[in-house]
Amino acid sequence: MNIPVCSYHNKICAARQSDILSDDIPGFWHTYIYGKAEDGWHGVRNMGKSGGQNRERAKGKTIRRIGLVFLFAFLCVYIVGELLGRWQDSAWQGSGRAWNAKDRQAIEVTADGNFIKWVELHVTCEAMAAAYDLDVETYKDEVHINWIELLAYEGAKTGGKFDKNSVKRIGETAEKLRDGETTMEKLTKDMEYYDYYLEAYTAVFGGMVGEFTLDGKRVYGLKAFSPIAKGFDYSHYDDFGSSRSYGYARPHLGHDMMGQIGTPVIAVESGYVEALGWNQYGGWRIGIRSFDGKRYYYYAHLRQNYPYAEGLKEGSVVTAGDVIGYMGHTGYSTKENVNNIKTVHLHWGLQLIFDESQKEGNNEIWVDCYELTKFLYRNRCEVEKVGDSKEWRRVVPMEDPAAEAYRKQKN
Ligand SMILES: [Zn+2]
Repeated sequence: MNIPVCSYHNKICAARQSDILSDDIPGFWHTYIYGKAEDGWHGVRNMGKSGGQNRERAKGKTIRRIGLVFLFAFLCVYIVGELLGRWQDSAWQGSGRAWNAKDRQAIEVTADGNFIKWVELHVTCEAMAAAYDLDVETYKDEVHINWIELLAYEGAKTGGKFDKNSVKRIGETAEKLRDGETTMEKLTKDMEYYDYYLEAYTAVFGGMVGEFTLDGKRVYGLKAFSPIAKGFDYSHYDDFGSSRSYGYARPHLGHDMMGQIGTPVIAVESGYVEALGWNQYGGWRIGIRSFDGKRYYYYAHLRQNYPYAEGLKEGSVVTAGDVIGYMGHTGYSTKENVNNIKTVHLHWGLQLIFDESQKEGNNEIWVDCYELTKFLYRNRCEVEKVGDSKEWRRVVPMEDPAAEAYRKQKN
């Protein structure tokens, strides 16, 4: 028989091998003794033959029993945890009533190799505007204030809750940064959740502000647009999370904007068309992914017979502000091109993707776009009719460096 080597000598523990497990002492118990023994192999063998065998066995049984009790307790905790998790998932997925957006806290924190599992967006339009204005105002200054950092700092302080005082506090923070009194690094050094909010809000707002070319001029500012073209009326309210009836009961994971059939629908952000076609819930719909992959924009219920901007197809690259389709009321039918939605409206949704596993299924993260829609109202795209066709196109051309970079990388 080969003389096995033990874990004490930094090798696989031979005591686990069946050829020396001549009695009922489990492998892990062997290993334990093994590690303590002066000479591992002989330690185990001698123990088995020694006069203290029975005493040692009794001790072994007691320890094994304690071990089993711990193992059982651990399993119970694990199973209960799993069940609770599943219950929460099903509440989130399946039932509009059980699900409550306000009850869930954004507390997941990214660590090594992990990704964010949950985000709620409660940043108010006013807070976005205040932070954004400060960002643009200081663009050429020595201290350029980053609007996402400002929002993340405020979010980290309040647990993601924004209220009327947020604007004031954002202003005060910016003042300190501009005066050189402090830096964002110093301010956030000991904040437990700053990194989380920075990553979460960067995922939401990351592609919306930057340099771009508008009508031949290089500018810096808001390059994201309202999803409804300028001059077209709509009404809306915060309907995120309210329940819906078609298909399985599920919460409303987007934002509805009620208007007229044929209203030009605008790409909020630049990106590439990832999905286009019929979907029984969304009717004629378009899915556009941001170039960094973090955002998926979903535009649904587009016009019967003429839903999309001419030439738009899967893989197309769109620039923020482009006309991508037309408002309608298609959907709620497995049959294509059916107007089964009562009210004419655009449903648009914003999904965050930190890991591809979150794209489809139980782990999808959709955020409330109501406040964002209000904020984007300041940037509506002017459009004009193309001849006497059903088409509209943007008036002012824009080039987004992000789209250029993506095209280059693709070719
Ligand atoms: Zn909707």
